[in-house]
Order: sequence, then C-alpha cells, then structure tokens
Amino acid sequence: MPNPSGDWADRPIAVRAGRLLDVETGELRGDRVLHIRDGRVAGEAAASDGIPDDASVVDLTGLTVLPGLIDLHTHLVGDVQTADVPATTTSAAEEVLIGVRHARQTIEAGFTTVRDLGPFRAFTDCALRDAIDRGDVLGPRMRCAGAFITSPWGGGALVGLALDIELPEDLRFGIVTTVDEVRERVRRLLIGGANVIKCIGTGAVLTRGGVPGAPELSEDQIRAAVEEAAWYDAFVAVHAHGAEGAKRAIRAGARSVEHGSYLDDEAIAMLADTGTFYVSDLYDGVWALEFGGPAGWPAETMRKLGETQESTEVVFGKAVAAGVRIGFGTDSGVYPHGLNGRQFAWYVRLGMSPLAAIRSATTVAAEAMGWDDRVGSLANGRFADLVAVAGDPLTEVTVLERPVVVAKAGEVVFDARVTRPA
Ligand SMILES: [Zn+2]
Repeated sequence: MPNPSGDWADRPIAVRAGRLLDVETGELRGDRVLHIRDGRVAGEAAASDGIPDDASVVDLTGLTVLPGLIDLHTHLVGDVQTADVPATTTSAAEEVLIGVRHARQTIEAGFTTVRDLGPFRAFTDCALRDAIDRGDVLGPRMRCAGAFITSPWGGGALVGLALDIELPEDLRFGIVTTVDEVRERVRRLLIGGANVIKCIGTGAVLTRGGVPGAPELSEDQIRAAVEEAAWYDAFVAVHAHGAEGAKRAIRAGARSVEHGSYLDDEAIAMLADTGTFYVSDLYDGVWALEFGGPAGWPAETMRKLGETQESTEVVFGKAVAAGVRIGFGTDSGVYPHGLNGRQFAWYVRLGMSPLAAIRSATTVAAEAMGWDDRVGSLANGRFADLVAVAGDPLTEVTVLERPVVVAKAGEVVFDARVTRPA
C-alpha cells in the first residue's frame, strides 16, 4: 500500500529466505538474504553476512522463495465464463469492479504480473490496471490488450444475441473487416492505453457457432497488426486453435500463438524455428469439462471443449519435445481466478520438468511480454516481486498452488500465516 507519510519510504528491506530458487540457473541456495531498495532487488547475500541495522526484515525462513509468477493469458475484468452471452448483463463499471476481486485473487495466488488478453468492453482492463498502479486496488502488474481484434461474428465478437440488437461501440470496438481497419483499430487501442494487441485468428471454443479450427483473420490482417503495433513497441498475441491460423500468425510475425489446440507438425516446427512463443492453456479445459456441464453451458460448447482439450494435450507434449518456447498462460476467467497455479502440474504431467514449468511462468514469460528487464527473476534491478512456498517446487511443483507469502515491490501483500491457519 502507498506510504503517505513517507517516513519509511527509503528504508531498505531484507528478506530472510530459507531457500532461494535462482530460476535462471536452476540453483536452490539455502539461508539467503535478498536485499531490496525502492521496490527493486538490490543484491543477494548469505544470511551469515548479516542484515543492516536500518533494514526492515521479512522473515521467510522455512520457506522457498522464487520470483513472482507471470500469467501470459488472463481475463481479469468481468464475470467468470457463464452460460450467458458475456458482458451483456453488466455495465462497464460493474465489469471493472468485478475485476477488482479477480485482481486480488490472482496476486494472492502468487501471480504478480499478468498479460491480460482482452475484455469484451473496450479499455475496461486499462482502467483496472491504472487503479492497481495508483495503489487504489491490490493486484498484479497488468499489461492490457484493450479489446479483441476480431472479424465480424468472430471469436472475439459477441455472438448469440438476436440479430436486431444493436451493441454500443465499446462492445464492438475491435471488429475489423479490412487491412486498413486493422491498422486504425490497433492505433486507437495503443494510443488509448493498451500495451499489447490481441488478434482472434481462428474460431473460439466458447463463442456460439464458432469453429475453433477455422481461420478468421487473413495473414495480411495479422501482419498489419504486427507492423502497426511495432511503431508503438507493442507485440501481437494471436488466438489460434487451428494450424492454418497459427501458421498465418507465425509468418506474420506475431509474438505468441495462444491455445494452439490443433497445431500440426509443420506448425510446431515453425514455432521452434522462429522462436515464436506458444502460450498453452491446459488447466482451464480440465476445469470447464468438469464444471461447465452442471453450470448449464451449451452442449455445443462442451463438445468443442472436449475435442480441443484432448488435442491440446497431445500438441503440448510434441511442442515440449520440439523445443518450442512455451509461455505459461491459463485463460483465467474461463475457470475461477486464483487457481492459476494448478496448471503447473499439467505442464509437468505432459512432459516438462518442474524447472522448465517454473521458467515458463518466470524467465520465458517475461521475455514473451518484453519485460525481461524488470520481472521474471530476482536479479539485481528487477522488481522485488516474489512468492514463498512451503517445500521444494523442483520436486513437488504443486506447492506453487498454495503460496504462503506474496510480495510486490518488496511489500508483503499476502501472508497465509496471518490470514489463514497453517
Ligand atoms: Zn482467452
């Protein structure tokens, strides 16, 4: 929280760590002290070297400390997926205020940075990000898409309403038909406060009538988005379930392919060759297949969920084996916020080592979002965002599902030892 009086603003912080996981080398070092100044890491030393008298001490002895986790694919604003057409029974203000709870749940789960890939109402995500940055609301550092760039009736459009219902502009902001419209929308999003562009390259699972394998944007349209975004130092993430849509994205220079449920061997090889990041959501499908039916989700949605989940699990294993750079993204909002860490176990089950899974949510994710100079490790100068867990995540990755302490910029924002019994 902000410190209005400023009396301890300059006071250094010393974090006593039982063990410190260096995610870059994979080394687990015992009995360490992490020094923090002005919210950033200022050095690391052995506990035996002592602690400066003026430092305030955060005691994490008995715990394993690692960098705050990153989720590259969240939807913090608005309700968690329901059987209704999204964002049509809630105002923009309600959507943001619902997001306040989701932001808290996300950071308390150890995720101190997110790349938030699209609200249905344009720019509501940016409003939440700005409130967090001001210190009004507790939540992760957010990079926001502002809206979805999507074709009419595409996976990012609101489909399922009667034909004679006219939507307000903020609910159809990212709908494009021509290449020129893509450029204009991308510009408006980035000038309006978005940090990253999200293109819906193929059909979506949760959009009624959508066919996940079918391409919905042309390669020229995606390339226009990539070129335009580059002028603003922004990257493009492309939602693509189908192989053709993913190949268009890779050829057009997208930073990441999201979902990739039906990637074929050629698409996987293209990801590996180009270094394009693959952001694979595995846990949301597991959750939705269990709870979507009882929640009244349409049979068509449940069928598509089953098909894409089965295929994604195969694709994931092949992508790991091919050396694709896989970034951790969960599509939170499809499943309830705060369960993000449950995906680690699925990454490991399907072929990753625990260290590789942790890197997908730290070093690799930071690079994917162009923030490797500030998050994703506890090297000097990085934000002092950290998570402390009980046990060794390198042998039991599920300990990441239950963080004990979470700190952002050196300040403890969650401590399970205080807020819930051990
Ligand atoms: Zn998504």
